[in-house]
Amino acid sequence: MQAGIHPNYHEIKVTCACGASWSTRSTVKGDTLRLEICSSCHPFFTGRQKLIDTEGRVSLFQRKAAKSKALQEQNAARKAGKAESAQ
Ligand SMILES: [Zn+2]
Repeated sequence: MQAGIHPNYHEIKVTCACGASWSTRSTVKGDTLRLEICSSCHPFFTGRQKLIDTEGRVSLFQRKAAKSKALQEQNAARKAGKAESAQ
C-alpha cells in the first residue's frame, strides 16, 4: 500500500433509532454512526405497513402542515371580509 493516500478505514459502532446496533468497518470520521432506519425496523424488511416515526420527522411535518392550513384559512377569511366590505 502506498503511504498517505488511503482513507482511515477503521472499526465503528452503528446504532439505529430503533435500538439496534452492530459493528462494521468504515472510513467515516469518528467511531460511531447514528441511523434513523435500518433493516430491522424498515417496513420493507419487517413486512409491516407501519408508519415509522422514530425521529419525529412525520409529526414535525404534520405540525407544519396544520400551521400552514390554519394560516391559509385565516387569509381566505380576511380576503372574503375585504371583498364584502368593498361591495
Ligand atoms: Zn432500526
